[in-house]
Amino acid sequence: MKGFTSLLAGLVLAGALGAGAADSKDDSAKLIKLLQTSTVSLLKEGNARFAAGKAQYSNSDAARRMELAANGQEPLATILACSDSRNPVELMFDRGVGDLFVVRVVGNVAGVSEMATIEYGVTQLGTPVLLVMGHTKCGAVTAVVKGAELRGHLVALAKLIEPAAKKAKADATSAEDAVPVAIQLNVWQQIESILTSSSLVRAHAAAGKVDVMGAVYDIASGKVVWLGRHPDMERLLALPDAPDEHPAAPGLADAHAPAGNQLPVGSTPAASSAHGGAPAATQQGETGSGKSSGPLASAKPIAPGHGAPASAAPVGPTVKPAGKNPFGAPPPAEPHDEHPPAKPASAH
Ligand SMILES: [Zn+2]
Repeated sequence: MKGFTSLLAGLVLAGALGAGAADSKDDSAKLIKLLQTSTVSLLKEGNARFAAGKAQYSNSDAARRMELAANGQEPLATILACSDSRNPVELMFDRGVGDLFVVRVVGNVAGVSEMATIEYGVTQLGTPVLLVMGHTKCGAVTAVVKGAELRGHLVALAKLIEPAAKKAKADATSAEDAVPVAIQLNVWQQIESILTSSSLVRAHAAAGKVDVMGAVYDIASGKVVWLGRHPDMERLLALPDAPDEHPAAPGLADAHAPAGNQLPVGSTPAASSAHGGAPAATQQGETGSGKSSGPLASAKPIAPGHGAPASAAPVGPTVKPAGKNPFGAPPPAEPHDEHPPAKPASAH
């Protein structure tokens, strides 16, 4: 697998060089599109093998590890998925070491750290695909839909799922029925959060450099149901940047260096976007567009082979960054009222 993106990138370059100046841009765009469709095809083929019990477990040997250690990573896709142990991302796509840049967090939410990691995958590693993937029977989404009592930092995480849960419940006859709808709406919600909050990812998506898609994994069948692009993608990609959303800051060095999968300290990379640095922590009001999403459309429960699109709520993450815990210092005592129990689904 190593070299797949290089190969296609070479084709992009060859296409650009082989064409006249006027055509090179169009040809490059076409070849980037080819890279994206090829990536999705590979993921779909791998998932079909996995679901059929015919996984090949490729790219998992010592030679692969040595190659990547020497030459750096070049993953195919950045994937935001849930931490649920029944949701094994590399396995479900039958991909191996260095193939996927995976962000796993309970409820596949796009909080600040997840957003920064996604920005790294998209803008530094240059993955042609960004996939936000929910899964059936997601405990986090279920808890929020059913208003389960949560404690600790889960309270803040649950707030990122609440808009989807709230909308799903509004259209469902029971909480049980609302869960699969909320799982799908949560995929759209997180994509909207990413594109609303991250001018870096938005710029790459608007330029066609990354194809942002949604999916839901069925933990029983092993099949990934692809949802396609966000139904409101056009509006999201047209959002303007906030003036000071991403102040330049030194940070990530060349991601393709031999030790490129570290997050080294170094010069500010020449990213494809003019921005660099830390992601914005909040979303609402950030764009200054004055726009708001239309009312949420209802979503149908996931059925294999279908991807009924549905809008996502305009409300973005409002989670505050957790307090820092300097290395070596003992963790601060938790104040009694730091994370009072909350019923997130009924809090709004
Ligand atoms: Zn989950």
